[in-house]
Amino acid sequence: MDFEYSTEEKAFQREVRAFIEEQRSPGVMDPTREGMAQLVDTPERRRFMKAMADRGWLGMSWPAEYGGGAAPGIYEYLLNEELAAAGAPLIGKGVGIVGKTIIRHGNERLKSEFLPKILNAEIEFAIGYSEPNAGSDLASLVMRATLAPEGKGWILNGQKRFTTSAHFADWYWVAARTDPDAPKHKGITLFLVPMNAPGITIQAMDCIGDNERTNEVFLDNVFVGDDYVVGEVDKGWYYISEALDFERFTLFTISTYVKKYEVIRDWIREATRDGSPLKDDPHVRRTIAWLATQIEIAKMHTLRVISKAGAGGVPNLESAMFKLFTTQLGQKITDEFLTIAGAQGALRRDTPGAPLNGRMENYYRYSVIDTVGAGTSEVQRNIIARRGLGLPVEN
Ligand SMILES: Cc1cc2nc3c(=O)[nH]c(=O)nc-3n(C[C@H](O)[C@H](O)[C@H](O)COP(=O)(O)OP(=O)(O)OC[C@H]3O[C@@H](n4cnc5c(N)ncnc54)[C@H](O)[C@@H]3O)c2cc1C
Repeated sequence: MDFEYSTEEKAFQREVRAFIEEQRSPGVMDPTREGMAQLVDTPERRRFMKAMADRGWLGMSWPAEYGGGAAPGIYEYLLNEELAAAGAPLIGKGVGIVGKTIIRHGNERLKSEFLPKILNAEIEFAIGYSEPNAGSDLASLVMRATLAPEGKGWILNGQKRFTTSAHFADWYWVAARTDPDAPKHKGITLFLVPMNAPGITIQAMDCIGDNERTNEVFLDNVFVGDDYVVGEVDKGWYYISEALDFERFTLFTISTYVKKYEVIRDWIREATRDGSPLKDDPHVRRTIAWLATQIEIAKMHTLRVISKAGAGGVPNLESAMFKLFTTQLGQKITDEFLTIAGAQGALRRDTPGAPLNGRMENYYRYSVIDTVGAGTSEVQRNIIARRGLGLPVEN
């Protein structure tokens, strides 16, 4: 099997690297950052996204009739991998979840209003699925959408939890129950709501990873016009499931894990304990060799996802395996580092004597979200059991 990228793909990779060098700025890129993806929450990061838009790199894989580049998905993947390696914002929710769903299912109004803004990096979205009692079992969501008086539009009431980006996003992509009597997967509808609509209250939820924030969002009699219903009423579950397959594929990149491994490998080459080089320690040698092997396996999982998508399939099983393996590998990488580093490994960023300036201690706390967001590890295992192994649906 030939794992090499084509000449055109390699040329694109070089172009992206040159662009990143040209745009390099600490306010936009942080290669030591351990988060899933840099948020586009400052004017400088918005300008960076606009520069990518000007290159035609947002919506590269969208059909040409919607202003996209009609390029194979591998180009979007290569772009995101380079961005992630540099600690830059990725092309994310707007292009991957909102845009692709509107293209497939949205009405003409949504297409003409949102698609050009996404392509031009003029708009940021927050995704409102999870609620206090609806996470893994998302179809249990209870946010209610009732018909507005005179049957024009909808009124939304309820609470969302863990809405990342709500505090700076322009629009809210939100799921609510339109038919409480239907089986739980069948009465859900997707809406687009301006984030500053009357009746929306946003409260910060701080995370255990430093400087990471998500939000609780309360909707109190929020009006949504009929034009802003996404697709058909009561069909939201279908669109959410389809978009989650896109999300697992586009939001998790391998290069961040490779970088973490490389940083630890390089540190081991130089570090000493009690005057002896760590690289001579048999446990350290075995551990780093094992991690090197795991990294190669993770890369193979990525290639399985890309090759399935490239052949026109939806890589849901492959994405589940990829996400499970790589996010858990991320945790193993930081776990092994903290074991090797000993007591000093627990020192936080910018503390004198902290190995790698506390980067891995920070990541140890942060890495929890990787195995939770876009479906927990247990949920990925359930997908693999059902779709890959043909085992019965869990109770
Ligand atoms: C920092 C952060 C950012 C987030 N951002 C967003 C966002 O922008 N938008 C959004 O909508 N959501 C977001 N989420 C929510 C995220 O998708 C949910 O946390 C996730 O789906 C898990 O749901 P839960 O937290 O309710 O846990 P639960 O579903 O209550 O799960 C608790 C535990 O039980 C396990 N479990 C549950 N069901 C099963 C099962 N059937 N079999 C085996 N084990 C099971 C889980 O794996 C987990 O370990 C975010 C979460 C975090 C932490």
